[in-house]
Amino acid sequence: MDKKIYVTKPVLPPIEEFVEYLENVWETHDLTNFGTYTKQLMLELMDFFSEDYLIPMCNGHMALEMTLQAMELSGEVITTPYTFASTTHAIVRNGLNPVFCDVRESDCTIDVDKIEALITEKTSAIVPVHVYGIPCDIERIEAIAKKHNLKVIYDAAHAFGETVNGKSISSFGDASMFSFHATKAFNTIEGGCSVVRDIETLTRIYQLHNFGIMGEESVEFVGANAKMNEFQAIMGLCNLKHFEENRQKRKRLFGLYIESLKDVEGIRLLSYDDESVEYNYTYCPIFVDENKYGKTRNELYQVLKDRGIFARKYFYPITNEFACYKECGFSGNTPIAKKLSEQVLTLPLYSDLSEEDVVRITDIIKEI
Ligand SMILES: *Cc1c(COP(=O)(O)O)cnc(C)c1O
Repeated sequence: MDKKIYVTKPVLPPIEEFVEYLENVWETHDLTNFGTYTKQLMLELMDFFSEDYLIPMCNGHMALEMTLQAMELSGEVITTPYTFASTTHAIVRNGLNPVFCDVRESDCTIDVDKIEALITEKTSAIVPVHVYGIPCDIERIEAIAKKHNLKVIYDAAHAFGETVNGKSISSFGDASMFSFHATKAFNTIEGGCSVVRDIETLTRIYQLHNFGIMGEESVEFVGANAKMNEFQAIMGLCNLKHFEENRQKRKRLFGLYIESLKDVEGIRLLSYDDESVEYNYTYCPIFVDENKYGKTRNELYQVLKDRGIFARKYFYPITNEFACYKECGFSGNTPIAKKLSEQVLTLPLYSDLSEEDVVRITDIIKEI
């Protein structure tokens, strides 16, 4: 059996760099509740993103849930089903109704031409996803939101460290959520953050993420516990120093995938060639057209698996087809998202994947 290769492998810093921080933790017993290193990570991330209002949290999902809660939305929220479970769950768990907008076949992001038809007097926000780190059509989303007085909260879980026209991707919309999960471009083991536009919203999220507690004897909001702990923050401080070097490694491997697969009949790659965008190269999704390729997506998935290569069907199924949502009657018709979900296979891509591994994977795809 060949060596097993998974779709991703979490980045770890050199162990000495992590251990160096522990001495101080053992001295202070400062483990959580917005401790020294969580504050330090917040400041470093504010600098990294060039943002003034940012708060680290226990994970990306809770960051999205708390951000939506802090925005005091009501009624309907327009979003896409071609995403991870978290996006739709965060909307529904806030008591809001998701209205599903289809995505563009070219890049899997929300199809801006189809947003306005879904707006009703109940719509309060749009939650688009920068899927695979491909920025949504930010300008047109902003214009639509302005015209209809809607909030825009980006699920930017895949877009850490990206820029559009030299500006941080966090700078668009009313808020953005980033995930620092182990499998993402930058990790704090589990973790995430919310970026917002003003101190009032940031303060509200801060309160919500600590049970809505305002003082020793006063609890004013129905919050939850979404605090980052000090070990997560330390992992973040270490990994942040290596983010750029890891990005460059992934970029090289991604280029190799493109080079090897671009002429394979029936295999489509997304184009990461918008000159105005600096990508983070965390995902390598391919779309299998069985009529041209001669094998289905599921057959290719199985062949790779039999050879020890665990590609993943990100994102399949689409969220509006989950068992928990099937009977809910949420509106929206999303044939393109469905088609993409049936064609997609996300190939292994991470900073210490070797070039030989990429060649091995692409050779299998080419030979069958
Ligand atoms: C990972 C992810 C999330 C959730 O982030 P966690 O840190 O795992 O909670 C949300 N949305 C998308 C698109 C994701 O990929």
